Amino acid sequence: MDNKTPQQRYNETHRRERSEYGKKYHWDNRERCNQYAREYRQKQKAIVIEHYSNGTNQCKHCGFKDARTLQIDHIEGGGEIHRSKITQYFYTYLIKNEFPSGLQVLCANCQQIKMHNNNERYKCGRKPKYGKEGFVFE
Ligand SMILES: [Zn+2]
Repeated sequence: MDNKTPQQRYNETHRRERSEYGKKYHWDNRERCNQYAREYRQKQKAIVIEHYSNGTNQCKHCGFKDARTLQIDHIEGGGEIHRSKITQYFYTYLIKNEFPSGLQVLCANCQQIKMHNNNERYKCGRKPKYGKEGFVFE
């Protein structure tokens, strides 16, 4: 006998029904699901920002504190390439990988200025193209 719950055994033998049920549940409860996902991402981001700012929750360069603008910056650049290799939510990845080094907290303005000054943009070779949907990577 395995250690699976009756629910897990049912899910294995009724994959299609389970998948259909999951899709229907998500569609019928999309507001709730989206809200949950939003709150989950905000909590993950707060944990990461707190860690990389040593508990100050502010931009390392200018001290700006609005959490909506705080971002994780790759100190040596190369963030686009690094993030393009990560398939999960970036903040979740950082937590699961025990906060890799080489990162810091900057506000959006300071990060843009740093990227501009260091000519860090589009080093991954994916230049964005402006189209009907806004900026998209080719
Ligand atoms: Zn700043």
